[in-house]
Amino acid sequence: MQKFKHLQQRTEAGETIVSQNIIAKKIGESDRQIIVGAHYDTVKGVQGVDDNGSGVGVILEAIESFQHKKMPYTLTFVFFGAEEIGTKGSEYYTSQMTPKEIQNTVAMVNLDSLIAGDKMYVYGDEGEDGWVRDQALDLAKKKKLNVETNPGLNPEYPKGSTGDWSDHAAFKKLGIPFAYFEATNWALCDQDGYVQTEKHGAIWHNPEKDSLNFIRSQFPGRMEERLHTFSILLIELLTHIKEPKK
Ligand SMILES: [Zn+2]
Repeated sequence: MQKFKHLQQRTEAGETIVSQNIIAKKIGESDRQIIVGAHYDTVKGVQGVDDNGSGVGVILEAIESFQHKKMPYTLTFVFFGAEEIGTKGSEYYTSQMTPKEIQNTVAMVNLDSLIAGDKMYVYGDEGEDGWVRDQALDLAKKKKLNVETNPGLNPEYPKGSTGDWSDHAAFKKLGIPFAYFEATNWALCDQDGYVQTEKHGAIWHNPEKDSLNFIRSQFPGRMEERLHTFSILLIELLTHIKEPKK
């Protein structure tokens, strides 16, 4: 099933821009749902291969692999519009969720900027509340995937967590547990995860760097490794995720 939601955002210049969220559902054994999301917009004038063609690509790969499988939970895939102008797509989506739907949501998995950063991470809520992240980390270990979490070098972003700058934030605000996949490097500069690579600094939002040719030529093999690893991790997580007993 697909449906389109329209959002209207008035920019500072008074210009009205229309954007859409694209939603697809796969009914699972349980009618409780997991929302899997990635924004499909980019910063104006940027190819956006990393931010966020990569997230969209990994979700499409997972969808294809589930095609003939019965999944434990109902999966709601959402491609968000208008993330780059202030996470408008995900905020609109959560504003339309009924209390029943919120209660019926097991978790949200956000994928944003997966292929350029030096290291692969999964984040979640702090401590035990971050059970989706912890399950993803366990699965990564089992599958020998090179995925870790934010080491918490910066006290503003404690171990395992991250900032509210992507589409997971709107769901977190509703108390929905989340996991968020990203490639960056938390050891660099202000240790805020913004500078993704030692070699070329931040890639996202840069018209030269966030392009297929640049990433391919400057980081040979990285794109393929990241896409492969995150696809396996997403498929494993959605296949094995278990709600903790309350
Ligand atoms: Zn992004």
